[in-house]
Amino acid sequence: MTGDTDFDAVVIGAGFAGLYALKKLRDDLSMTVRVYEAGDGVGGTWYWNRYPGARCDSESFYYCYSFSPELAQEWEWSGRYPEQPEIERYVNHVADRFELRRDIQLSTRVTAATFDESANRWEIRTDRGDAVTARFLVTAVGCLSAPNVPDLPGMDEFQGEIYFTATWPREGVDFTGKRVGLIGTGSSGIQATPRIAAEAARLTVFQRTPNFSIPARHSAFLPEDQAKIKENYEDIFAATRTSWAGFPYAPIKRATASVSADEREEILEGLWGEGGFKFLWGGFHDLLLDAEANEIASEFIRRKIRETVKDPDTAELLCPKGYPYGAKRPPIDTDYYETFNRENVTLVDISTAPIEAITTAGLRTTAADYEFDALVFATGFDAMTGTLLRIDIRGADGVRLADAWADGPRTLLGLQVAGFPNMFTITGPGSPSVLVNMPVAIEHHVEWIADCIEYMRERGWTRLEATEEAQDAWVEHVAEVAKQSLFGRANSWYVGANIPGKPRVVMPYTGGQPMYRERCDAVSSSGYEGFKFG
Ligand code: NAP
Repeated sequence: MTGDTDFDAVVIGAGFAGLYALKKLRDDLSMTVRVYEAGDGVGGTWYWNRYPGARCDSESFYYCYSFSPELAQEWEWSGRYPEQPEIERYVNHVADRFELRRDIQLSTRVTAATFDESANRWEIRTDRGDAVTARFLVTAVGCLSAPNVPDLPGMDEFQGEIYFTATWPREGVDFTGKRVGLIGTGSSGIQATPRIAAEAARLTVFQRTPNFSIPARHSAFLPEDQAKIKENYEDIFAATRTSWAGFPYAPIKRATASVSADEREEILEGLWGEGGFKFLWGGFHDLLLDAEANEIASEFIRRKIRETVKDPDTAELLCPKGYPYGAKRPPIDTDYYETFNRENVTLVDISTAPIEAITTAGLRTTAADYEFDALVFATGFDAMTGTLLRIDIRGADGVRLADAWADGPRTLLGLQVAGFPNMFTITGPGSPSVLVNMPVAIEHHVEWIADCIEYMRERGWTRLEATEEAQDAWVEHVAEVAKQSLFGRANSWYVGANIPGKPRVVMPYTGGQPMYRERCDAVSSSGYEGFKFG
């Protein structure tokens, strides 16, 4: 690491996005790049979220980089859904293989970034006292990286141990013989529940909203599975780039209502049996467009929950009602519902009796007091905007990003923000981002950004910025498309509903990857219509 203070680009974050941005800008565009990473290792999400049971919800062979055929051939995935340590090893391998570490400063959080109009450069400050400048600021902060810590009275008074799934201790936690209270039943809570239940003396799960979870059906790869995947990588990766959500399979083109009840049942059973996201993205194409079609799939899942969970009251509590399947990001699980058949596991409904306070001995709901040795918060993230807004980002004329986004995020293509020249937001709000298999969305953005920078450099330009008009039109389009789907019909983090006071806006672009990529291509091939250069 050099002591340089002026870079062509500063990248914030060394997760999947930051690592590829560094490689692309440094190695393909010969730019000087500095990456700042808050963690003391690379991996982003896969560095921080090391709670028991943390594993990828997408299958290994397409939740990975596609930019290097050599990398794809040499890396061996152990099975369908790798656990966190395996993915962390993979990102570390990528960092070593492409000699990325020398340009990454770990354990350093970017605290402020200000655009200097006179120089067309960003001034960046960190919590370690760094003060550097860069022509381009590339945010690779992840969509789910600012933990949501509920504002409950008494958090400091609890005498036991408190853990957050989003910042799990590196050394792990031994719950043997302990009474554990777990708050939150999103993907993290649903993955952690079976593992903690298997170890702890007692586990009490506090559920505010039940989720529709699909079994992962993890299995280890045999050597012949790996060989087949490696032979087919080119086709697999090509399919991920053209599909709606970045997965190598297509939805069923027929409308749910046009299929007989018997055939529908057979199809849903088949998808349930296969497991994973195929139920969402490889099922009927109208699942997230038509409320009645959605209800058929939703009721199918409820039936599976009722068949699995032996106690009828617990089963009913676990059955989601009142919102469509998929409108909240659906979890993928291993033995989640089965875990509620264990003697040592209890489900507590906090939708009717919310948590009032954390106490010295445990927690209190409006209905009862509970005692625990350890509390686990699986309460999610201030998604998509939280991490960016926790940095003091000021654009042209000193405008704060927090003010520009006071009524919800505004971007052009989720890649740029009007008034914030030379800043690119990888998988920013207004792009498909979290609705797409993340590495696929990330690679697309990094490559688009690199092309845009190259276009500027060829012309000797030093400043680019989204125009207000183009941004307004895009924000309107994003909202319009969202209205045609069911995504706005749940209180999910997609709409900011999990964070008190956050403006309710459908943040990801819900038009799907093909339509989005077409737009991005049209913009770049038209000489970046909607952007102004200088
Ligand atoms: P999440 O989906 O937002 O779930 C948070 C849970 O905590 C919800 O059940 C929520 O209830 C509850 N909660 C939040 N604040 C609360 C409060 N004050 N009192 C009581 N309950 C509260 O968060 P997550 O499980 O960490 O998952 C976030 C996202 O990360 C996922 O949707 C997914 O995209 C990603 N993720 C991916 C993987 C993977 O691929 N393997 C694994 C984990 C997470 P409400 O539903 O009522 O708000």
